[in-house]
Amino acid sequence: MRNISAIDLIFEQSRKGRRGTEFPASDVPEQPLADLIPADQLAANAPKLPELSEPDVVRHFMNLAMLNMSVDTHFYPLGSCTMKHNPRRNETLIATPKLTGLHPYQPESTVQGQLQILFELQEMLAELSGLPGVSLQPAAGAHGELTALLVAVAYLKDRAKRENRPHERNIVLIPDGAHGTNPASAAVAGLKTVEVKSDSDGFVDLDDLRSKLNDRVAVFMITNPNTLGIFEKNIKAICDLVHEAGGLVYLDGANFNAIAGITRPGDFGIDMMHYNVHKTFSTPHGAGGPGSGPIAVSAALTEFLPVPRVIHREENGQKHYSLQYDAPKSIGRVRSFFGSVGVLNRVYCYLRTLGATGVKRMTENAVLNANYLLARVKNHIDVPCGDRCMHEFVASAAKLKAEKGISAMDVAKRLLDYGWHAPTVYFPLIVKEALMIEPTETESKETLDRFADTLVEIINTGAELLHDAPHSTPISRPDEVTAARKPVLKFVG
Ligand SMILES: *Cc1c(COP(=O)(O)O)cnc(C)c1O
Repeated sequence: MRNISAIDLIFEQSRKGRRGTEFPASDVPEQPLADLIPADQLAANAPKLPELSEPDVVRHFMNLAMLNMSVDTHFYPLGSCTMKHNPRRNETLIATPKLTGLHPYQPESTVQGQLQILFELQEMLAELSGLPGVSLQPAAGAHGELTALLVAVAYLKDRAKRENRPHERNIVLIPDGAHGTNPASAAVAGLKTVEVKSDSDGFVDLDDLRSKLNDRVAVFMITNPNTLGIFEKNIKAICDLVHEAGGLVYLDGANFNAIAGITRPGDFGIDMMHYNVHKTFSTPHGAGGPGSGPIAVSAALTEFLPVPRVIHREENGQKHYSLQYDAPKSIGRVRSFFGSVGVLNRVYCYLRTLGATGVKRMTENAVLNANYLLARVKNHIDVPCGDRCMHEFVASAAKLKAEKGISAMDVAKRLLDYGWHAPTVYFPLIVKEALMIEPTETESKETLDRFADTLVEIINTGAELLHDAPHSTPISRPDEVTAARKPVLKFVG
């Protein structure tokens, strides 16, 4: 691998007077700056800009871009995140000026095509979940969680009022394997969280759940398949228990890639869920760009969804699409305009091009790829609860650490030297030294084989070489917390 640490900062490459472009001499008489800009608004000194030739600038940014890891350049088995290929046809289809040229304040009559796309997308998502009420508004999975919890509270309050009882449900039950966004969303919604234990096979401990259900419980948030990559076999019983206690069941839909087109959350008892479209439905992922996390809810909860929703009516055989704001029980707005429309249009293209059979095959191949990789590695590294998996599995480096001093972090860091993105590490918290591996359906058998070979090679490497890996990146092991919380992103020279 190239020695990438040799890339200097652009400021270090700067040479006084070097230029990328030369302009012809100006024939306009020069005016004092103070005549153009009020003197009190002029900076005291000119900005310190780097001075370089154009080829050096291009080369600098190309080299920087090549330091990046992305689904386009690397296998990216980041468990729970579903880093699948983004089909380019989606980008091409949505790039038509007929869509990109629209303005959110245009009259409805002039945006019928766009509204039709959003309406049909609501219907497709409802069909996939078996939950009829869809809101496309939330801006990410976590925002979907918050929105759905607010919808749940509005419903429970309304129900208590109808039944002439005080509303006292403010507890959210969350399994110990849950993603951190679940308790965070509950807290933002003003609710209390109580943890529910998993049993030794990785399923929700039903006795523990029973002991924590009471008339204060608003919602049980469950991830299914769970974060160990296994399908919660008691899901129906769990939903029944929560419903008997008067609560609602929320599905964290981050793992929908393992079940979409095969089974429907609404059919196994779920009341509401979110979709991570950047995971399951291949929209671009990461870098904090516009996200989207639609939610779906059961019929009883639909009137509480945020506004606007897209509705349609038929008149003289013609369909008219419109935005519905008139919803007295709605929780109100959660997002400006109509959601992340550019992202939702990509979801629509993805689902329309796959169709019902395509979605099913997507899911089957995601599960097949994960099981193939699991079979290739499980004789070399422990995989608790790893007989079979859904679309991902969680290996544990606990034994490797005890016997050879090799931690999950060592394995993850060393993978970078081989040109692989690392799996998710140290999540879920219920597995010691966790390595959560999700290949997705868009990877070939050859890639999975090469990754498995690398993993086995790393596990059999001496611990010393691993402790200071990676060896091929500009910096090796930053302090993880400081690097995330206090990043130094500007040149101090
Ligand atoms: C990704 C993820 C989330 C949060 O989704 P965002 O779209 O990133 O906000 C929630 N739960 C699980 C299990 C996830 O993997």
